[in-house]
Amino acid sequence: MSTVQPTWVDGAAGSGFDIDHLPYGVFTRDDDRRRVGVRIGDLVLDVAAASPPTALAACLAAPTLDALMARGPKTWQAVRAWATDLLTDPGRAEEVRPHLHPVDEVSLHLPFTVADYVDFYASLDHASNVGRIFRPDAEPLLPNWRHLPVAYHGRAGTVVVSGTDVPRPYGQLKLAPDQPPVFGPSARLDIEAEVGFVVGVGSRLGDPVPTSAFADHVFGVVLLNDWSARDVQAWEYVPLGPFLGKSFATSVSAWVTPLAALERVRVPLPTQDPEPLPYLHVDEPAGYDLAMEVEVNGEVVTRPPYRTQYWGPAQMLAHLTANGASLRTGDLFASGTVSGPARDERGSFLELSWGGREPWILDGDQRTFLEDGDEVVLRARAGDLTLGEVRGRVTARR
Ligand code: MN
Repeated sequence: MSTVQPTWVDGAAGSGFDIDHLPYGVFTRDDDRRRVGVRIGDLVLDVAAASPPTALAACLAAPTLDALMARGPKTWQAVRAWATDLLTDPGRAEEVRPHLHPVDEVSLHLPFTVADYVDFYASLDHASNVGRIFRPDAEPLLPNWRHLPVAYHGRAGTVVVSGTDVPRPYGQLKLAPDQPPVFGPSARLDIEAEVGFVVGVGSRLGDPVPTSAFADHVFGVVLLNDWSARDVQAWEYVPLGPFLGKSFATSVSAWVTPLAALERVRVPLPTQDPEPLPYLHVDEPAGYDLAMEVEVNGEVVTRPPYRTQYWGPAQMLAHLTANGASLRTGDLFASGTVSGPARDERGSFLELSWGGREPWILDGDQRTFLEDGDEVVLRARAGDLTLGEVRGRVTARR
């Protein structure tokens, strides 16, 4: 599949982190200084230490990806071309090897400063399932759903990197419809398997970003777990939408896959009916074929297919700026729960357990929502590439 020379890095060729991937992250070694890294195989390249060209050095010698992200597509292409050259030219192996570190010997950190966080609701199957669960006697989709990508603003300050524990959230709970609410730990802690898009280049207040400018602004893709307390959410969400049922934590992968690496898995969006308004028109292919899976305590429990999502990311970006709202470096917008049409393609336990009424089986036990100690891992493949995983363990509140 690769159109470039093979890498000289041992073990990388044919892996999910081959030369045609090169995702970015931020890591520390013993000295605790945060550095920008590029992953190749099971190694991390310390990019600033590997003598990048002067024009690129300043944005790479930084403790986050922010400066690199802000520079835009020309710089992104230049860094990728330089790293590709370093890792494919056997003549440079001796010089570069000291700057490659085993990924299991470094600590990975949140790779960019999250500016605003927006979460969409782009899956037709997810939106339909939720409609059927909560409003069984009504039309599953609300009237606006096929006309615009529905979303809410989330809490940027509680976006955490993969590997961060998630304390069980507390909140107001309605234990019975005819009883007043009580305050306590959520008994319906859930996940949402999602894909996140990371904005690099900002925009000016008052200037909408057209769908055609998607790749001028979006730096890359992360996997994202939008942890959700369904019992808190169910009581609080009317009429202004999700708040404390979701704001307690959102986990993202430590690796950001550059948009350029995902060119190979672009696919057309499903047919949109009715045809969206002109500002939401996209040139196809505007979707991505990512095969996701959700693992709980080491067991894969569902495999959501991203390619079936109704609204594409360029449409989400155009919609979130359509009113003239500006973008900032580090803005994060996510797809919403990725669910496919089949039962074993549902991206939340709300759907897998059909509102808690149909338990699913984990290691022989009947389960509905998450228990303390459960560890959830989201993974995804993009053709031959492996996206960075998102791992998180539920803990009892301290
Ligand atoms: Mn969500």
